[in-house]
Amino acid sequence: MSHINKRIFLSPPHMSGSEMKYIKEAFEQNWIAPLGPNVDAFEESLANYCHSNYAAALSSGTAAIHIALILLGVSHGDEVIASSFTFSATINPIVYQGAIPILVDSEKETWNMDPVLLEEAIKNRIMKGKKPKAIIPVHLYGMPAKINEINAIALKYDIPVIEDAAEALGSRFKEKPVGSFGKMAVLSFNGNKIITTSGGGALISNEKKLIERTRFLATQARDKAAHYQHSNIGFNYRMSNVLAGIGRGQLEFIEEKVKARRDNFLFYKKHLQHIRGLTFLEEPGKDFYSNRWLTTILINPDETGITREILQEKLEMENIETRPLWKPMHLQPVFSGCPAYLNGVSEKLFNNGLCLPSGSGLSKREKQIIINAILKCIHPVC
Ligand SMILES: *Cc1c(COP(=O)(O)O)cnc(C)c1O
Repeated sequence: MSHINKRIFLSPPHMSGSEMKYIKEAFEQNWIAPLGPNVDAFEESLANYCHSNYAAALSSGTAAIHIALILLGVSHGDEVIASSFTFSATINPIVYQGAIPILVDSEKETWNMDPVLLEEAIKNRIMKGKKPKAIIPVHLYGMPAKINEINAIALKYDIPVIEDAAEALGSRFKEKPVGSFGKMAVLSFNGNKIITTSGGGALISNEKKLIERTRFLATQARDKAAHYQHSNIGFNYRMSNVLAGIGRGQLEFIEEKVKARRDNFLFYKKHLQHIRGLTFLEEPGKDFYSNRWLTTILINPDETGITREILQEKLEMENIETRPLWKPMHLQPVFSGCPAYLNGVSEKLFNNGLCLPSGSGLSKREKQIIINAILKCIHPVC
């Protein structure tokens, strides 16, 4: 190899420039300790942006899912249905509550929870004697799930929906932001997400009571009293006022970030779609608008002559970071005992899929380097 490129990361943090203004304000007012004006303002902008009435800023997306489950009364021995094709943080909080994850496979169009399997799973669980306490569909990689169909089934069986929109801030279904369809929704501002607070999350909802209760539980469940009095188990799950300052600065540029990520997708597609056996996740119709958090490709080894693993290794040698698609939860050792309703879709996606560098700060030059590296591998001399 003649030269090594500067490493190209999968989805690194991308600061917009206005974050420091809010951090500086927090420092000047010595409002470093939890909560404060940045948290209030960040919550208000988030709620507005998501067409939701209320938002609570928390320490992580995982914490948000945990609190959502507590608010729905999920406890020991209960069952909660969730997408199997996701990151483990969707499922872990179910287990924190001593409840049992019921895993549901994906449909081919959006790669998200299959509504047909969802209904099968609900009927089967009820037949076995327990009605699931909640449904957690995920909008994976920013692609909206078939949320209308999922909601219709949830309504039919009267089961609340928690949307996991951790990867989907800025995505829309029928012109409405994802996160505004369920009883509650979860956002994440981890370092690799579309906006970041270095680490953080939020729970959003149209119901004031739920978000007030979230704020209460997330600040150690302190009853109203002059002394410290507790009638509930609490959590230390709030976002700090300094980090919320980063979030405010980031959220001001959300539209630019979504545009940059969607442009990444279009660039990759334009330069790679002619390759037989290499395909992209398409929006299934005009109702679906993805933030394209990560651009994902599927590689059919029979047609391309190369496997997902080999392509990843070759790109790594050029200092380009890629990542296989999420390994489904029903294939994870830790969740292997969970009931699962499967159709083979997510396993196949995992076997053949790769996420390409997709940061909103990715330059055209970097994208060209990636395209060249991929073409070099898939076409003749590799
Ligand atoms: C990142 C992520 C989470 C968890 O968010 P954290 O802020 O990292 O705790 C949950 N679900 C999905 C699908 C995610 O990608």
